[in-house]
Amino acid sequence: MDILNDKGLWRPAALIDGEWVTETPHGSYELLNPATGALLARLPRCQEAETTRAIESADAAFRSWRETTAKHRAELINRWYQLMVEHKEDLARIITLEEGKPLTEARGEMDYASSFVQWFAEEAKRVRGDVIPAPKTTQRIVALKQPVGVCAAITPWNFPAAMITRKAAPALAAGCTVVVKPASQTPMTAFALGELAIRAGIPRGVFNVISGNDTRIIGGLLTSHRLVRKVTFTGSTEVGRVLLRQSAETIKKCSMELGGNAPLIVFDDADLDLAVDGVMNAKYRNTGQSCIAANRVLVQDGIYDALAARLAERTRALKVGNGLDEGVQIGPMIDVAAVAKVEAHLADAVAGGATVLAGGRRHALGGAFFEPTVVAGVTREMTIAREETFGPLMPLVRFQTDAEAIEMANDSEFGLASYLFSRDAARVWRTAEALESGMVGINTGLISTEVAPFGGVKQSGLGREGSHYGIDEYLEIKYMCWDGLGAA
Ligand code: NAP
Repeated sequence: MDILNDKGLWRPAALIDGEWVTETPHGSYELLNPATGALLARLPRCQEAETTRAIESADAAFRSWRETTAKHRAELINRWYQLMVEHKEDLARIITLEEGKPLTEARGEMDYASSFVQWFAEEAKRVRGDVIPAPKTTQRIVALKQPVGVCAAITPWNFPAAMITRKAAPALAAGCTVVVKPASQTPMTAFALGELAIRAGIPRGVFNVISGNDTRIIGGLLTSHRLVRKVTFTGSTEVGRVLLRQSAETIKKCSMELGGNAPLIVFDDADLDLAVDGVMNAKYRNTGQSCIAANRVLVQDGIYDALAARLAERTRALKVGNGLDEGVQIGPMIDVAAVAKVEAHLADAVAGGATVLAGGRRHALGGAFFEPTVVAGVTREMTIAREETFGPLMPLVRFQTDAEAIEMANDSEFGLASYLFSRDAARVWRTAEALESGMVGINTGLISTEVAPFGGVKQSGLGREGSHYGIDEYLEIKYMCWDGLGAA
């Protein structure tokens, strides 16, 4: 791959038990660049045998990895972090090549992705238990935290690096081993992370990456194999449901980071400059393909027209193109099916009486490109307000009262992120506490950071990633009740 400084990071092969598997008996599949349609790589298809081997190697590695000291694990994970920092530019280019996001955003994703690795290298040393006052004088009660075991991590294409490190870093820090199944549209970033894990000295079998598009076969095994003790998934609610069902048979510990339908509320008293920046950030990051993207922008009547005009103007000025080109702010969508979904949501809104203020069509560049679009006069019944659009489409919904905004915001089965813009502290508290979501951005459209607990309520998920809470997802609590400690 010519545009990489370190060609060794381009690894079209699965990583199983420390070895690169370039061929399987099941043939290969083609990986395409979403910006150009060009062939990027041919990847080996893993099925039962390869997935089983990865699980068994993770299980074998777990026996020794769990016995290492937290300090030792922290040092290796920190070396992995240092290598990600050193190779940030190459990793960003791989992300843009396979996922399409503008290079500046891909660099931002690498900062975010590596921040979890640094954070959990530190957290490895801070896993502590408890001594609990016992009910009898002859007893002592001690609670220990121990690694769960082999973890299966199934990740989406929209953040090909960060969605892996947010899971693998706390798992490894806790003493677990991992089998990653990256999205079949963005596996190259996962393999590059695997290459750096090897260079960091992380032992064979501790971090495995499966390749292939035989998703149901791989996923079926990862959620049913008796040696897998934990399933950690990021992706759609629909697939999350399937994986939970499949994991039920062997009662696996599960974490689910699922879909969203984030409301963003702008009140009359908001700082409009801040609100415009906030909406643009919350909507268009990754071409609108983010689980915490503002899916519905609810604007109070008094500022509706002014805000709509400013958002339309800013949207028209966005530069669309190949993410590798200088100055591009909006890349292609992941594929033409994603474009068709945006088109369908927009057509439904327009048929219901909504008005297009900016964009509104497939982009002249063709392929998977769509014009960033603002549509006004959206109502809560429209598909666009009820389903996750996952594209560069900004629907504006008008409201009158605070109670109406909160009621509309909560009228969804999802509860991942929400946002609000206001200068009134009492209104901010009241609204933030009433919103049914795991995360609330207040006067900002950018809320992701390794120090905060990321996750959803309702059908947006189970568990939290990042922060000091994140490592708990990879630990079990064992308590020891020790009796017979009476006076000598
Ligand atoms: P997806 O279709 O659910 O796929 C996610 C992952 O699951 C991919 O690796 C996919 O593999 C795999 N998968 C699909 N069907 C499977 C099955 N039957 N068994 C096992 N694995 C299966 O989601 P996506 O389109 O990649 O990502 C977009 C969704 O992710 C959106 O809903 C978004 O909101 C959500 N998301 C949530 C968060 C969060 O933190 N809450 C973050 C990012 C994205 P293949 O690629 O091989 O199909």
